[in-house]
Amino acid sequence: MLNKKSVDDINVKGKRVLVRCDFNVPLIDGKITDDTRLVAALPTIKKLINDGGKVILCSHLGKPKGEPKPELSLAPVAVALEKLLGQPVKFAADATVVGENAKAAVEAMNDGDVVLLENTRYRAEETKNGEEFSKELASLCDVFVNDAFGTAHRAHCSNVGVTHFVDTAVVGYLMQKEIDFLGNAVNTPVRPFVAILGGSKVSSKISVINNLLEKVDTLIIGGGMSYTFMKAMGEEVGKSLLEEDYLDYANQMIAKAKERGVNLLLPVDTVVAKEFSNDAPFRTVERGEIAADEMGLDIGEKTQALYADAIKNAKTVVWNGPMGVFEMSNFAKGTIAVAEALANIEGTTIIGGGDSAAAVNQLGFADKMTHISTGGGASLEFLEGKELPGVAAANDR
Ligand code: ADP
Ligand code: MG
Repeated sequence: MLNKKSVDDINVKGKRVLVRCDFNVPLIDGKITDDTRLVAALPTIKKLINDGGKVILCSHLGKPKGEPKPELSLAPVAVALEKLLGQPVKFAADATVVGENAKAAVEAMNDGDVVLLENTRYRAEETKNGEEFSKELASLCDVFVNDAFGTAHRAHCSNVGVTHFVDTAVVGYLMQKEIDFLGNAVNTPVRPFVAILGGSKVSSKISVINNLLEKVDTLIIGGGMSYTFMKAMGEEVGKSLLEEDYLDYANQMIAKAKERGVNLLLPVDTVVAKEFSNDAPFRTVERGEIAADEMGLDIGEKTQALYADAIKNAKTVVWNGPMGVFEMSNFAKGTIAVAEALANIEGTTIIGGGDSAAAVNQLGFADKMTHISTGGGASLEFLEGKELPGVAAANDR
């Protein structure tokens, strides 16, 4: 069990609190086109304001590669946050992030005030977890809060290095939720525990498959990765996504599932087309009947029913990877069916992975899931069973 101290375990009254947020928002011509990440950050920020902390916010934005890039300044975020919070957010416009502006702004803070630092990746040391920048960040604060899950799988100054020079390092509400679900619910699941894996490739999910096989009662496989499994079992897959180099691995996983008594489910029918296009004519074929000039682009209706049935009684479900090419409406039905099946169960439903989260949001099932992870790469590393540096750096309870 991961049991980290959170913002609920500390008293920040009158203290300078540095909060690492994920303000990596999409920007077009200096305008924020989607403020989801800002809105998501508000609960932690408001809690610290209400508790009388001096709230200093920091984040990276895009990839300025270690030098100031005006188009990647966090200045527009300060303006947007002011509106969302309904109070001033003082922007410290230092090219060095911790410069004269930041120091003076922090010096002048009253309890409940908010300051935003410049893009942490203006500093080349940031992504190298350099000591100097870590110390500079720490010098601004008494307490550190990490609420940026998207970078938790990386050790950078603003999420890991800084904690070496601050006595108190805790997690915010967003991080806490990721730890609760992707960390703890997956590792100590209420059973039956079902994992659904799909997406494009076996190769990008090797450790996820391997790790989850040690925990689940049922493992459902769909999407592009399923054809490598089918081929490994001796079936023809035509022009479908296939990773020849991973046939042995697929066989090992099939054997591992058998050894451990895991119910491993593969598609029993497949929606196929001759071209990778939403305009291509398509048909559904039974297992093993994909023609040489066809490719599988979605799971068929029988498979949808089979998977929904396997999910029905689950108490915990973790899902990573779409069941088909959901970006094309003709091949989104399998992904929709699985999302519906998840939406209909009583158990805990957890979505990890960038495209999987996008699919669930885009298809309109977001409010039906228990937890949709905000970190693509970080959520996969969690599902691989790895320790995330950004999580490990927080104080234990
Ligand atoms: P995540 O980001 O959630 O971990 P992945 O990146 O592994 O998911 O996979 C998502 C991609 O997999 C989507 O772009 C989807 O179109 C693709 N995909 C799913 N099924 C197939 C398929 N049968 N053939 C080709 N691509 C597929
Ligand atoms: Mg992806």
